[in-house]
Formats: sequence, structure tokens, C-alpha cells
Amino acid sequence: MSHEQLLEIQRIDVETDQLKHRRLSLPQRAELESARRDRQTQQVTIDEVAVLRVEAATRQRRLEDEAETVSARADQDQARLYNGEVTAMKDLQALQTEISHLRERQESIEDDALVSMEEAERLSGQVSAMEEACSGLDERIDRLVGEIAGSEDDIDAKLAALTEQRATCVSEVDADLLEDYAQLRPGFGSATVVHFDGRNCSGCPSTMPAVEADRLKHVPSGTLDHCNECGRIVVT
Ligand SMILES: [Zn+2]
Repeated sequence: MSHEQLLEIQRIDVETDQLKHRRLSLPQRAELESARRDRQTQQVTIDEVAVLRVEAATRQRRLEDEAETVSARADQDQARLYNGEVTAMKDLQALQTEISHLRERQESIEDDALVSMEEAERLSGQVSAMEEACSGLDERIDRLVGEIAGSEDDIDAKLAALTEQRATCVSEVDADLLEDYAQLRPGFGSATVVHFDGRNCSGCPSTMPAVEADRLKHVPSGTLDHCNECGRIVVT
């Protein structure tokens, strides 16, 4: 029966559209997008902190080098104090004062280096903690990508089965009728082929005029005709 096949084609088309819509609007897609945005934002912060950590570590090394240079100079002066090179009491005192200043400076620079080292360590811990937090987010992203792929495979299998079913139905429906249905479907969607219950067309928004109802009533049962009111294909 041609009208049953046409109704079946309509059912398949409706289900196909629903599946395609479901494929596009899987809830995990929005979740994935949001997770990826979060991941990107966190990476920006991680990169910023990592830059600060490198700066602190560089500062620490520079200060350590500077402290070493000052220490070497103090050691040199210390040696001069005892090697007999300087003998005058006044010069010896001046040398001792300089050594004392150099040692103070060395200590101060070493303190600064320590502060920088601690800062670098703190920032390094911060980077590790943030990367750790991101690993959870990365796992979530991977899980969502997997779930989406799984759902897509499920839907694609159903779509393939529907395509096959549709092809079988199409082979049993008159080509002109199919063409008619194809032309009307963009406007009427899931209600392109409708029923006539003896009084009204189920596609018409209002009560059918008696003349049109009477006309359709006299169309042989199982025949396909058009409703003159709404233009849909009516199964009587
Ligand atoms: Zn109608």
C-alpha cells in the first residue's frame, strides 16, 4: 500500500531529523566547550606564573653570582690584610673597614638571593598545583570527547539503518507521489502526510468546510489526495 509506505517515509524522515538534531546538540558538546574554555584560561594563568618563576630563578642566580663576586673581593682583601702588603695602621684599618662593608654587602645580597629562591620555589609549587588541577580538567575533556564520539557512533548507526529503511520504502512508492511529498515537506515538516478522520483533516488548523469534508469522504479509502484547505497530502 503506497500510503502506508509514504507515512513510513515521513516517520523515518521525522526520526532522522530528530537524530540529526540530537547529534548536533549533545549535552556533552556544551560541557566540552566550557571545559576547553576553562582549560585555556587556566593555561594562560599557568604560563603567567611560570614566567614569574623563571624571573625569580634568574634573579636568584644573578644575586648569587653577585654575592660570589663580592665574597671574592672580601677574600682578596682579607689576604692582603695578612700578606704584609699593607703595613700602615691607618691603611690596615681602612682595609678592615672595607672588608667589613664587603661582608655586609655579601650577606645582604645573599639574603635577597634567598628571598628570590623562596619565591621561585613558591611559584614552582603554584605551577605544579595548577597543572595538577588541569590534569583533572584534561581527563574530563578526554572523557567528554570519548562520550561524544560514542554517542555520534550510536546515532550514526541508527541513521544508517533509517537510510536503509527509507530506501526500501522509496522503492515501493510512486515516484510522482514521492516528488510531491519532497516538495511539500519543507513547508509542512512532520505533518506533510496527514489523516482524514471522516470530518476533518488532521493538518488543518480549523474545522474543515462541509464541502471539502464531503469531497474527501468520497475519496476511496487508502487513497492519497490533497486537502484543498491546507494543501497537505491526506490519507483517507
Ligand atoms: Zn488540511
